[in-house]
Amino acid sequence: MTDATGHGARLTVDLGAVAENWRRLAAEAPGRACAAVVKADAYGCGSDAVVRALWTAGCRTFFVAHLGEAARVRDALPEAAIYVLNGLLPGAMPAYAALDLRPVLGSVQELSDWAAFGGGTRAAALHVDTGMNRLGLSVPDALALAGDPRIAAAGIDLVMSHLVSAELPGEPVNGRQIADFARVRAAFPGIPGSLANSSGVFLDGATHHDLLRPGYALFGGNPTPYRAANPMRPVVRLEATILQIRHVEAGAQAGYNGRWTAPAPRRLATLSLGYADGYPRAASGRGHALVAGILCPILGLVSMDLIILDVTEAPEAARGGVSTLIGDALDVDTVGQAAGTIGYEILTGLGSRYVRTYIGG
Ligand SMILES: *Cc1c(COP(=O)(O)O)cnc(C)c1O
Repeated sequence: MTDATGHGARLTVDLGAVAENWRRLAAEAPGRACAAVVKADAYGCGSDAVVRALWTAGCRTFFVAHLGEAARVRDALPEAAIYVLNGLLPGAMPAYAALDLRPVLGSVQELSDWAAFGGGTRAAALHVDTGMNRLGLSVPDALALAGDPRIAAAGIDLVMSHLVSAELPGEPVNGRQIADFARVRAAFPGIPGSLANSSGVFLDGATHHDLLRPGYALFGGNPTPYRAANPMRPVVRLEATILQIRHVEAGAQAGYNGRWTAPAPRRLATLSLGYADGYPRAASGRGHALVAGILCPILGLVSMDLIILDVTEAPEAARGGVSTLIGDALDVDTVGQAAGTIGYEILTGLGSRYVRTYIGG
C-alpha cells in the first residue's frame, strides 16, 4: 500500500522516545513496577516495534484490550506477562491458556469460569469497578470475595481498578476511587495492586500501588494537561508532501462545498494527505500544518486524500516540499483539540497508507 514516491504521507515513530517515556514514568514511582498499555496497535504506533523497544528498556508487563492484540504481543515477546483488559468471554479459555495470556476478569462469572477451567497454568487480574461502570466487579462484590477459594484457583496475581478523571486533579471522584481501591486491596493481602493510568501516575502517590499502567504518555501524549509543560517526549511525526502551489484571487473558493473564500489574494498548497489517512475531517478550517516552522491554516474541508493549506506566510512552501501535520509545535494534544477530540483518538486513528519509519530502536 505504501509508496516511496512522496505521494504517501510519512509517519515517523521514535522508539527511543517511547523507551525514554517509559523510564520517565517508572521513575515517578521508585520501587514499584511499570507496565505498558499497548492496546489498539500500541496507540496507532505499531505493536511489534513498540513492544520490542519497551522490552529492551526493561518493561515486562503489557496490557492490551483484545485477545488478538495479545497474540501479536506474545509473538514478539515470548516471556512477557500479557493481560487482556476486555475480559473473558464464554469459550475463550483455551485460547488464553494456549498462549499463556492473562484475562482481566471483570465479573464474578468470569472469575468462576476461569477458576473452574482445567487447562494449563493460570494467572489473571481481578478488575474492580470504582466509578467507571464499564467493566469490573462492584466494590461490595469484590469485598465479598475475601478469602474465597476461587481467587487462588483462578491464579489472581493482580487486583486493579481504573481512574475516571485522573487528568482532572480537582475532581472529587479521584479521592473516592483511591479510598475504595485501598479498601479492596486490604481484602486481598499479598496480591499486588494497580490503579494508575498515565495521568494517574502524576496525580498522587496514593495511586501508585505496585504496578503503573500508562498508555497515552508512552506515546508522547500529555498526562498533565493542567500544567504548562508536557513531561513526555514526542513520539510521532506525521509529514505530507506538497503536491501543488496555487495562487488565488480575492473571492475565490477552495475545497468541497466552497467552505472557504479568499479574503484577499492568497497562496495555497495542496497536501498529499486526507481523512483516509486518519487525519480528522473535523479539523477542517480549524487545524494547522507547519511549513518550514511556520504555522499555516488548513482551509475549507479536509478531503479524502488532500488538504488545502494557506501558505501565504510561508514563502518556503514549494512543490515537492514537506509539511508537518503532527510534530514540533503541533503535538498530538493540540491536533486533537483542533478536531474537537483528544490526542488519544488522533493516535489510534493513524492510518495504514503511510510510509512508516521507526527511528531510535
Ligand atoms: C487504556 C487503559 C489504560 C491506559 O490509559 P492511558 O490514559 O492511555 O494511560 C490503563 N488501564 C485501563 C483499564 C485502560 O483501559
